[in-house]
Amino acid sequence: MSNLRFKAVEEAFKKKAVAVSAPAALTSDYYGAYVFNKEQWAKYLPKETVKALTGVIEKGETLNRSLADSVAAGMKTWAIEKGATHYTHWFQPLTEGTAEKHDSFIEYSGAPGSPVIEEFSGKLLAQQEPDASSFPSGGIRNTFEARGYTAWDPSSPAFIVSDTLCIPTVFISYTGEALDYKTPLLKSLNAVDKAATEVCHYFDPSVKKVVSYLGWEQEYFLVDDGLYATRPDLMLTGRTLLGHESAKNQQLEDHYFGSVPTRVQAYMQDIEFEGYKYGIPIKTRHNEVAPNQFEFAPIFGETNLAVDQNLLIMSIMKKVARRHGFRLLLHEKPFAGVNGSGKHNNWSLGTDTGVGLLTPGKTPEENLQFITFVVNILLAVYKNNALLKASIMTAQNAHRLGANEAPPAIISVFLGTQISAVLDKLEASSSEEAIVMDAKQGMKLGIPKIPEVLLDNTDRNRTSPFAFTGNRFEFRAVGSSANCASAMLTLNSIVAAQLVEFKKNVDAKIAGGASKEKAIFDILKQYIKESKVIRFDGNGYSEGWKAEAKKRGLDCETSVPVIYDAYTTPATIALFESIGVFSERELHARNEVKWETYTKKIQIEARVLGDLVMNHIIPVATRYQSSLLDNVYKIHQVYDKAKAAKLSAHDTSTIEEISERIAIIKTKVEELVEARKVANKIEDERAKAVTYHDKVIPYFDEIRYHVDKLELIVDDELWTLPKYRELLFIR
Ligand code: ADP
Ligand code: MG
Repeated sequence: MSNLRFKAVEEAFKKKAVAVSAPAALTSDYYGAYVFNKEQWAKYLPKETVKALTGVIEKGETLNRSLADSVAAGMKTWAIEKGATHYTHWFQPLTEGTAEKHDSFIEYSGAPGSPVIEEFSGKLLAQQEPDASSFPSGGIRNTFEARGYTAWDPSSPAFIVSDTLCIPTVFISYTGEALDYKTPLLKSLNAVDKAATEVCHYFDPSVKKVVSYLGWEQEYFLVDDGLYATRPDLMLTGRTLLGHESAKNQQLEDHYFGSVPTRVQAYMQDIEFEGYKYGIPIKTRHNEVAPNQFEFAPIFGETNLAVDQNLLIMSIMKKVARRHGFRLLLHEKPFAGVNGSGKHNNWSLGTDTGVGLLTPGKTPEENLQFITFVVNILLAVYKNNALLKASIMTAQNAHRLGANEAPPAIISVFLGTQISAVLDKLEASSSEEAIVMDAKQGMKLGIPKIPEVLLDNTDRNRTSPFAFTGNRFEFRAVGSSANCASAMLTLNSIVAAQLVEFKKNVDAKIAGGASKEKAIFDILKQYIKESKVIRFDGNGYSEGWKAEAKKRGLDCETSVPVIYDAYTTPATIALFESIGVFSERELHARNEVKWETYTKKIQIEARVLGDLVMNHIIPVATRYQSSLLDNVYKIHQVYDKAKAAKLSAHDTSTIEEISERIAIIKTKVEELVEARKVANKIEDERAKAVTYHDKVIPYFDEIRYHVDKLELIVDDELWTLPKYRELLFIR
């Protein structure tokens, strides 16, 4: 069997880069060719339809049947011209990926048996009823109401994958609860738009809309597909459950930004060509820190669309990897001892008048607006630090947070010296000093000048989970395999609720006779004090920070199932209900899904680990031990007792070590199985997940420790599982 490993290594070494070529000379010539975007609307839709559709998307006007029919007709013509024969509602169930069920355009033109024609009506575009019974719902969807509906999201354009027209949709239950990520995301974007627009009116009454922007940086690993196929743990769990560290891994820091390996370069180009066809503006590509780890980042865009594009590119990345003889690993921690993968979410808010609300302005008014948003965000993150952590927490991400080079499992905010100085000054000054109203020159701010561009690279704290980076916040704790919507809907919701609160506070002061400027200033000053403990500019990886964070009262919980409790505290329920993003029932239901998913993931890992140990590790170690025994026996045949003992001493100690380690491993695997059985009997999903966390997971490291030691002593020829050095360095 060990042959399979060596065969895979040999084959992998022979692989050459796959030739790829651009669909056209200029990217701009084919960019968005497979997307039904505004350019296509102009070609395929009547003028009144374009106008009405724009109203639906931009002003939230209602979508009626005749509009849907008109859009469907144009969309169908476009799709068929592009070679599409099928359509699907493309949605985002609570499984992290996307779901689709394809239907052909064909319909009988009359009674059954009459000739077929291509049909696609507004009804089919607007709403579908997929069989929802197999998607997680957390108990919302009892069997008698198993129905779920998908409904068209006109704000994210339809696109064609292969022969299928994909229509982005929300997914809701018969009783109207969200069964997906898109529904609450759209609600949160609406909430932050409303709340932020009202706050903007203090500074500029002409603002009509505030848009949330997202620029994701997608990290990933590539592994040769032959090697992948001989690692059941990678295949079934997405990560290696065993494997001794490679002697060389990332300690020389020679991979980050290094020259891209040729097979990977071809893969990256292929992804970009594909991405551009779908209007995904991929801008940056590079090697990441760990060997065989890489990254893509597009130009940021409107959050709803950016989330959809990220989901689409993840699925494209998986497919294209096969073409290049790779497998894509999106798991947050595929390899122990080297960096894991995240998906930094660069997030900002901007107005329809073109002002970046997180960009320091040119005038004192703009700067006061900028500070207003920064301070409100700080307070929102402070008050909801446990919730924000819950929004990014999964079984997989738990391996990454707090480990090599990952932000810790504690949410804090890095502001950098300049912004910190501004806030400190504001906090210390009186409103008379800080804001001077001059009849001739208008308002003056008695605070240090904020440079327009903060190109302060030395200040770029890489250890912070939530960092200000000049014109945006970068939420770095998001996992590489996650749907960004979870983090984005939470962030936009907490900021929306905070801005509502801010406006209430300011208006109350104004009603009490304060000037607008003084009211804003006083409230900000109070917020700066209140949120101070969330600010941390030091090293987030240090042990000292954990103790300090605890002292500050920040959430330091590390057990994933317990972290999810933050979703259902009275404060969180009140927050989400007040801005209309989630009902209490939805929050409870979604936590049920999260606990269940957590349990299943650990359950699968435990099974795979047991199988690997019993079928790969122990038989191989025993075989090696037996060959040593053979050797010892032969030595004794040839030499006298004293000499033989001396000559076989090394073999004998290895034989004993193997026996001891195998005995421990076997016992631990049996205990692991027992622990699982106990956990499986628990009915309550939370209690079950907590038991898996507390009683099952600890065995993983104990077993692995001894297996990895065996890997170091067993003959390499016999070892069946590709080793870390092969997985990480062959490309
Ligand atoms: P780095 O790795 O240095 O943080 P990258 O260039 O890899 O930066 O990625 C930064 C991401 O942030 C890109 O997607 C970029 O488009 C995005 N971005 C830049 N400005 C903003 C902004 N104002 N709002 C949201 N995202 C932004
Ligand atoms: Mg970044």
